[in-house]
Amino acid sequence: MSKIKIAELFYSVQGEGRYMGVPSVFLRTFGCNFKCAGFGMPRGEISIEADDIAYTHANIESFQKYEELPLVSTGCDSYASWHPAFKDLSPMLESDAIVNRIMEIIPFNEWRDVHLVITGGEPLLGWQRAYPDLLSHPKMASLKEITFETNGTQKLTPEFKDYLLQWQMPGVDFNREVTFSVSAKLPCSGEQWEDAICPEVVCEYEEVGTAYLKFVIATEQDFADAECAIAAYRKAGFTGHVYLMPVGGVESVYALNNKNVALLAMNHGLRYSDRLQVPLFKNEWGT
Ligand code: SF4
Repeated sequence: MSKIKIAELFYSVQGEGRYMGVPSVFLRTFGCNFKCAGFGMPRGEISIEADDIAYTHANIESFQKYEELPLVSTGCDSYASWHPAFKDLSPMLESDAIVNRIMEIIPFNEWRDVHLVITGGEPLLGWQRAYPDLLSHPKMASLKEITFETNGTQKLTPEFKDYLLQWQMPGVDFNREVTFSVSAKLPCSGEQWEDAICPEVVCEYEEVGTAYLKFVIATEQDFADAECAIAAYRKAGFTGHVYLMPVGGVESVYALNNKNVALLAMNHGLRYSDRLQVPLFKNEWGT
């Protein structure tokens, strides 16, 4: 049976994008190909908050679970899902164990109108090989909607693509919808454009499901970068919706620009995505 290294598994309300407000199970896999240490920093500078917690925090060994970790206001807000210093907080679990845990945390122990979010880290790294086993588990049979929250840089493996395409075959009455929520990283993330903006990869996601783009915006320069990126995706044939989302893993930062980003989206015919987990739950681990 396939195993997945699970950083977090929790039940909450989806705070971002297409399924904003929908009760959701979040399966956060461990590992990412990026660090995104530029978020919330002056352009060209990188955050050392995560490394600071990892390497110089006096009580690093006292962190036994995610809920005990400090939140950060700069860099990647889910740093512990990829930072090697925290890898021991993320167990390798078999599909049976994952599904049994899901059944414990959702109301009525069944899917009903609950959506599954497979997030990270970057969930389309090597774990693609384990998803068919997980998603075909008998206790997942009534699951209807799945979102992969990805940075849009990882090609689908031929095996996983074939697996997802089965759900679209004529005559298959599976009634399952897969969405790719692509948070493409602009230069404000600290990542390089040529590594982060991969239009052909995202166009391929549209072959097997619904894909949309979500850009984190803090400044006018970020929006100008987003427009360049959107043009590149459109040129490659991408047809999905585009969301603008305010920067801010903590409330003080989020509240500075959420309204401005909403206005920017309205004025340019784009969609606005909130980060409901910030005002509702302070973006704490497990929300
Ligand atoms: S891609 Fe996402 S999970 Fe990975 S470092 Fe960037 S913000 Fe964090």
